[in-house]
Amino acid sequence: MATGKINVSVDNIFPLIKKFLYSDHEIFLRELISNATDATLKLKHLAAIGESNVELGDPKIEVRVNKEAKTLHIIDQGIGMTEEEVKKYINEVAFSGAEEFLDKYKDAGKDAGIIGHFGLGFYSSFMVAGKVEINTKSYQDAPAVHWVCEGNPEFTLSPSDKTDRGTEIILHIAEDSTEFLEEGRIRELLLKYNKFMPVPIKFGTRTETLPKPEGAKEDEPAPTQEVDDIINNPRPAWTQKPADLEDADYRKFYRELYPMQFEEPLFHIHLNVDYPFNLTGILYFPKLTGEMNLQKDRIQLYQNQVFVTDNVEGIVPEFLTMLRGVIDSPDIPLNVSRSYLQADGAVKKISAYITRKVADKLTSLFKEDRKAFEEKWNDIKIVIEYGMLSEEKFFDKAEAFALYPTVDGTFYTFEELQEKVKDLQTDKDERLILLYASDKEAQHSYIEAARAKGYEVLLMDSPIVAHLMQKLETSKEKLSFARVDADHLDKLIAKDEPQVSKLTDEEKETFKGQMEAVLGENSPYNVQMEAMDSQAAPFMITEPEFMRRMKEMQQTGGGMFGMGHMPEMYNLVVNTNHPLVGEILNTRTEKKRTRLINQSLDLARLSKGLLKGEDLTRFISRSYEMVK
Ligand code: ADP
Repeated sequence: MATGKINVSVDNIFPLIKKFLYSDHEIFLRELISNATDATLKLKHLAAIGESNVELGDPKIEVRVNKEAKTLHIIDQGIGMTEEEVKKYINEVAFSGAEEFLDKYKDAGKDAGIIGHFGLGFYSSFMVAGKVEINTKSYQDAPAVHWVCEGNPEFTLSPSDKTDRGTEIILHIAEDSTEFLEEGRIRELLLKYNKFMPVPIKFGTRTETLPKPEGAKEDEPAPTQEVDDIINNPRPAWTQKPADLEDADYRKFYRELYPMQFEEPLFHIHLNVDYPFNLTGILYFPKLTGEMNLQKDRIQLYQNQVFVTDNVEGIVPEFLTMLRGVIDSPDIPLNVSRSYLQADGAVKKISAYITRKVADKLTSLFKEDRKAFEEKWNDIKIVIEYGMLSEEKFFDKAEAFALYPTVDGTFYTFEELQEKVKDLQTDKDERLILLYASDKEAQHSYIEAARAKGYEVLLMDSPIVAHLMQKLETSKEKLSFARVDADHLDKLIAKDEPQVSKLTDEEKETFKGQMEAVLGENSPYNVQMEAMDSQAAPFMITEPEFMRRMKEMQQTGGGMFGMGHMPEMYNLVVNTNHPLVGEILNTRTEKKRTRLINQSLDLARLSKGLLKGEDLTRFISRSYEMVK
């Protein structure tokens, strides 16, 4: 037997390992399975290039718990190690890896944003085990060796009676880590980190039901057999060629990723690039409706099929974190903080690549089948609109597929829309005025009035629409959006010749006074006398575009912080050309006039959706009185 002392510069490295990685103890299993996987793949590679003439078989990795002995076993059929290799790789290489890692980690540990802890490797087993044994037999013709270390720099190395090729790691689980002797816990970890690793991983057995033999009786139970319980899918869809996959395969893989998700994804994007960085993956567009506070950590990050994290912040552009799926790249640095990550050149390129791929996919979906794309629009617009707001490059590309639906269900691209409305909806300064509604029902009377004039009314109802319009207005020349109830139409799309007013200036003043007397002092309505089409409503409540948009942006958190709560302010626009207005003005008794004003006012509030509660009840009973 050989004994020795691991060449340590810091004598107490073992307690350090435990201390510094406290919150992440569970990753030891991922590290050991990664080593077992590497050992297996190395052997496969040697066999493939003819370097080794061993019987490769169908190598798998086995994980086994022995609760009585308090041990956890990770067994592989890979290349194994000779005595020399154990000395070199375990005592020297692995150890220096651990040391280097701790060195880095001590500084990085101050930054809360560490994502992964790759690099600690084999020595991470000392986070959960007081004693670790290695039994290993190399694929080369060399005696098997047995290495034991009890969590201090001393180790022993002796001959092993292991006869089959490969390595078995035995962890004697420490008193404070007995959770890792629970089968349920180990299964959970295997499913979390190793679900898509490239070598089959066996964890126990399960009972499989076989078909009944011919002529079996009705009540005879079907025969069963014990089979290896393989935890993982060694060939997940993202590692395969897109050409070899059908839509159904992508849907099946989605189900594998999100077993609890019942809704089908709308479509997928297969990512595959190997220069200037390496990245594969599949992103799915789930059905997204309305809400912005969607759960974001749905994209999983892998490195060579090993799960790293489901927080891809900084790697995937923010607007795409609403998607689901998998990204696998060995080129993403992991032992660094988020802020470092965002500044990293490779990561920036990856982020830009993903944005471009998503934009390209949307463009081709739009071109290939516009109708189907339109049908999906409501479910995907939130991602697209958010992307247009946050990524300049995406904004430019989105020109090709971003849609602007009208209240009656026609979908225009911006260019088409511009072409369609430019004759009617350009004001005297040659500014294009795009009218929109945010709620078809609530703004019905305003929408109808606009359509009566031949105007197109868009339906823009996403929560970030105010920001998006702002963005469009600043990036395109001579363009304004106005909600249909922002002002009366002649004002919104002001042409050269204003309407002539039937009422004289003096009459206007009088009427305004009469209105204000009825409204009282603290009214939120600001009376405006305007000459409009006699067909237009006599009274109309409007809310200036600017004020309303500010309020909306405040609600969705875009700038304008600290503005405090803005008061409700409306304009009450009186159409001086409407016969009713003249009639009210000329009403003799004040009592009757007040009644007519109140009734008209309530009708205007009703059509803006502002008449509620007690006011509504009073309006209804007053109306019945009039019917009588
Ligand atoms: P890393 O895997 O990052 O190189 P480790 O500390 O995990 O670092 O392992 C150090 C070395 O020990 C590996 O590079 C490998 O040569 C050897 N090794 C570890 N586990 C095994 C195993 N199961 N089979 C064969 N060799 C192994």
